[in-house]
Amino acid sequence: MIIPIRCMSCGKVVADKWETYKKEVASGKSPKKVLDELGLTRYCCRSLFLTHVDMIEMLSLFKVRNVPLSSGKEDVNIENLIGKHLEPRDGETSRQAENE
Ligand SMILES: [Zn+2]
Repeated sequence: MIIPIRCMSCGKVVADKWETYKKEVASGKSPKKVLDELGLTRYCCRSLFLTHVDMIEMLSLFKVRNVPLSSGKEDVNIENLIGKHLEPRDGETSRQAENE
């Protein structure tokens, strides 16, 4: 979800390198090269970066659904924001029914 502040195995601070890593890899650089440049030499830290899935922005959209807007406007339609490939599961629908 969010990159951990420190590597869970060795304790090295890694969170400050995440944005740089993401930007460089998105620009087409090889992840190996970027990790070397950032000084992430241990395989524990490297695996953290290589396997991390950054989902905080997508998950924050789901939070909006359950919070009534104070402005009185209608709730945000999440399906339109994130697309139909991420439809809510059955469990989520039943949880909503409990809240109402
Ligand atoms: Zn590490």
